[in-house]
Amino acid sequence: MRVFFSLGSNLGEKKALLDEAVSSINRKVGKVISRSSFYETEPWGFQSEHSFYNICCCCETTLSPLEVLTVTQGIEKEMGRKKKSVHKHYQDRCIDIDLLFCDDAVIDTERLTIPHPLLQKRLFVLEPLNEIAPTMEHPVLHQTVQELLAALRQSSKPNKE
Ligand code: ADP
Ligand code: MG
Repeated sequence: MRVFFSLGSNLGEKKALLDEAVSSINRKVGKVISRSSFYETEPWGFQSEHSFYNICCCCETTLSPLEVLTVTQGIEKEMGRKKKSVHKHYQDRCIDIDLLFCDDAVIDTERLTIPHPLLQKRLFVLEPLNEIAPTMEHPVLHQTVQELLAALRQSSKPNKE
């Protein structure tokens, strides 16, 4: 199964933390076969002085989606713990790993929703994802990543006139 991830960091050595998370995914989930460049974005959904870096990556795994989530939550916890005593901004996070797609699986359970329910609303997800999987089709919305991105860009444009 191919899993696509969105990763974000807005604390500390952000790029190094993202690199570390990708290498943990490569080790613990499965071989990372593609990865986007870094995107710098403003915090979304809360106020913070710290900007985010976001990337997407894709790996090939033999684990189930729920097993993948368990492993990536373990990676978040491991990496979060190291930083916790140093920073007091708890809404900021040194690493967030979300699952976007697991092939064309559609999952809706308490612990896991696949495809990620907000992916079509977030430029910081669709922009890096479009770099590595422009023609991937959303299994529920039946639009490709590049179509979702074009639609979101269109709808977030300020109205002229
Ligand atoms: P957020 O990513 O929304 O900022 P968290 O990383 O703290 O918040 O995740 C909150 C919960 O979302 C987790 O406990 C996890 O079980 C759940 N979850 C549901 N679907 C997904 C998904 N596709 N990827 C990652 N977490 C998910
Ligand atoms: Mg998350």
